[in-house]
Amino acid sequence: MREIEDLTDTRLKAWCIHCGAPIANVESNRDHVPTKALLSKALRKRGAAYDRGSGDELDYLPQVTICKPCNSGFSPDENYLLCVLHAIMAGSLYPDPATHPEAASILRSNRQVVRSLKNGPDGQFLLFDNLQPFTLYPDFDKVRNVIIKNARGHAYHETGEPLLEEPDHVAFTPLDRLNPEQRSGFEAVGFNPELSVWPEVGSRMMVHLLDDKTIVGGWITVEADRYRYSMDWTGAITVKTVIWEYLATETRWER
Ligand SMILES: [Zn+2]
Repeated sequence: MREIEDLTDTRLKAWCIHCGAPIANVESNRDHVPTKALLSKALRKRGAAYDRGSGDELDYLPQVTICKPCNSGFSPDENYLLCVLHAIMAGSLYPDPATHPEAASILRSNRQVVRSLKNGPDGQFLLFDNLQPFTLYPDFDKVRNVIIKNARGHAYHETGEPLLEEPDHVAFTPLDRLNPEQRSGFEAVGFNPELSVWPEVGSRMMVHLLDDKTIVGGWITVEADRYRYSMDWTGAITVKTVIWEYLATETRWER
């Protein structure tokens, strides 16, 4: 993505968007939205080069400033979601390093997560390895935490608006479980320049809307096949994301 300067009201930048701590009084750092580990290693490398001032401007990875305790507090849940996604995509908790090198290395270095995934919420031993169907029962709250973190980050990054309240609605499901009607409802992003409320002048979203290369069908692609998101702020604020073209998420704040 091309980096765009955020020119919205600086008074809104005074607090950590997750806990509300005044940023001036606490240690803070830059947090990637989406969770960096969800992107490919190649893009992460290019993004880091851009941050150091040497890379291509199209390799900017969206970031927001949050407090340090929040930033490190999300790490275990982000790591958990990463393990879940890798296990699902590789079809095993013990993927073959020859065919799924990234999944194998992530799951090998997170044995405690693998152990917890083998036990369902009701203590049921799950099917894994080469048995079909491959079923996991990930911890809802951990996945939810990461989805909210990224949704809040996207909203803040795009519109400059901190959403400190708990969202009113958080949902996630594999994209292929949506029936055709649900799928087209999910993919349609309700932005109509004639009817909608425009985002604040100076916000990144405003710039994106004027640049039809960034937004395709209402979606902003951070990395093809890895991560895309959309925002609708007409009335409620709704952030949708698609992770690895597998997991569809929707987070909404009614206002
Ligand atoms: Zn915080």
